[in-house]
Amino acid sequence: MGLEEKLPSGFLLSTVEGLAGYMRKASIWPATFGLACCAIEMMAVGTPDYDISRFGMERFAATPRQADLMIVAGRVSQKMAPVVRQVYDQMANPKWVISMGVCASSGGMFNNYAIVQGVDHIIPVDIYLPGCPPRPEMLLNAIIELHQQIQSTKLGVNRVAAARAAEQAALAAVPTQLMAPTHEHHAPLAPLTATPGRNLLA
Ligand code: SF4
Repeated sequence: MGLEEKLPSGFLLSTVEGLAGYMRKASIWPATFGLACCAIEMMAVGTPDYDISRFGMERFAATPRQADLMIVAGRVSQKMAPVVRQVYDQMANPKWVISMGVCASSGGMFNNYAIVQGVDHIIPVDIYLPGCPPRPEMLLNAIIELHQQIQSTKLGVNRVAAARAAEQAALAAVPTQLMAPTHEHHAPLAPLTATPGRNLLA
C-alpha cells in the first residue's frame, strides 16, 4: 500500500495515476523465459529488425526478482506449470503477463492431458496474443497494447470504483446460453452434384 491508496478521488489522484502509469510502462523488464517454438519469435524482437530496445525492454532479466513482465511463449506442460507459477510469484510487483500464441492461451492444437489448456489456469493474464506462432511484429503490438493498459491503470479509490463498475457490468451481461445465435447450425446443405469431366485414365 502506497501514498496513492490514501489520496481522495480528484485532480491529485489523477495526476499521480498518470505519472505512475507513465513511469511503469516505460520501465518494463521482461523475464528470460521461453517454453516452445513461440520463444523463437520472441527472441526475434531483440534483433535490429524489430528492435525491442526502442521501448528500453531489451534487457531480459535472468532473475525474476528483476523482472515485471512474463511473456509466456509456448505451450505450458503440466510438469512446467508449477515452475511457471513459481517464477511469476518471484517477480516484482506490479507485474504483467502476455500469453503469446494459441498454445499458451488455450492449449492450442494440444488438446490433451499433458498440456495446460491455457496459462490463465495458473497465473493471471493481461494480454492474449493469437497466432501460431505470432509474428514478432504482433508481439511488439501486444507490448504497445500493454503499455496503454498500464498507462490507464487506476489507483486507490479510483481502482476500487473501476472494479465495482466492471463487476456490475459482468453481472448485467447476458449469459452466453441466452445470446442470440450468430449463425444457423442446421441450415440444409445444398445437394452435391457431380460435374462431368474427362477421364484422364481412359
Ligand atoms: S502456438 Fe504454434 S509456434 Fe507457438 S508454441 Fe504453439 S505450436 Fe509452437
